[in-house]
Amino acid sequence: MTTLAFLSANLDLGYLLPAFRAEFPDAELRTMADLGPLDAIDAAVCWCPPAGLMARMPNLALIQSVGAGIDHLTADAALPDVPVCRIVDTDMASGMAAYVTWAVIHGQRHMGRYLASAAAGRWEEAPIQPPRAHRVGIAGLGTLGLVCARALMALGYNVRGWSRSPREVPEGLDCFHGQAQQAEFLAGCDTLVCLLPLTDETTGILNRELFAQLPRGAHLINVGRGAHLVEADLIPALDAGHLGAATLDAFVQEPLPPEHPFWRDPRILVTPHIATRTQPAVIARQTRLNLERIRAGQAADVAVDLQRGY
Ligand code: NDP
Repeated sequence: MTTLAFLSANLDLGYLLPAFRAEFPDAELRTMADLGPLDAIDAAVCWCPPAGLMARMPNLALIQSVGAGIDHLTADAALPDVPVCRIVDTDMASGMAAYVTWAVIHGQRHMGRYLASAAAGRWEEAPIQPPRAHRVGIAGLGTLGLVCARALMALGYNVRGWSRSPREVPEGLDCFHGQAQQAEFLAGCDTLVCLLPLTDETTGILNRELFAQLPRGAHLINVGRGAHLVEADLIPALDAGHLGAATLDAFVQEPLPPEHPFWRDPRILVTPHIATRTQPAVIARQTRLNLERIRAGQAADVAVDLQRGY
């Protein structure tokens, strides 16, 4: 019999149980409330699991993140040496492309101003610029970044991307990579979208020095992780005009506390980490496929490289 444990220190993963019951009809599903004997657990389905817990599961074969990122796992210094998988999902990618496209258009076409004008009953035009005149840079050209790039290119935006290593990209997408090409990439970003994984290298990457390298008045969209942004650097960069606006979906502390200054700054648009989601059925199916492959002695499809951090 297969035994799955749902582990989180800060989220009730109970919403996943019906989908997992359908996908694993004969398995035992255990939650944090009653984990039972730890040596019976075959797979851990996780979001921010308590540190050190999985090290006490001697027969664990799979650590499955319920999200695209694994930064919530790498904080565990005692993570056992078993395959770690993340979710790669076309619905998640198209949801992210929809959010990012909306945020780019909202900024570039001055939709915030129109919302304010409409509320006041004012007929007021803002400058109209064709998409091809607006340069959107996507930092992180992975599963999600590439889908966002394609969606924006289809609308005529001038899109560029930045990754860690050189990679194959669609025709027309200007590509930069590594530290050496970061400044050149940033200099051409009227809007900068952060879709990086959170690693030692990318923590705090959205900071004062980086903002100063963007064209004046650039729009920052952070759909990566809260810790990509040095929060204390944002309002000063807006005040100095290095940035014109920010759209933020992820925060160091979630929910963002009511007293946080981001809520009250009209140049900052806060959304509650809703850029995209994966359906429970997809998480359950990918977990089953990963476990089947591992038990058959094959590599799991979407295993991550813990050395690289993503
Ligand atoms: P991938 O692992 O597929 O892609 C990561 C990309 O970032 C790759 O292009 C990689 O480069 C690049 N990268 C990594 N490190 C660096 C670095 N130091 N410098 C430059 N580029 C770097 O990730 P996904 O596209 O699936 O997801 C990206 C992130 O989006 C997730 O980690 C998560 O944090 C966030 N996310 C947010 C959600 C939300 O609702 N707000 C929902 C889902 C995900 P290379 O190609 O060379 O490997």
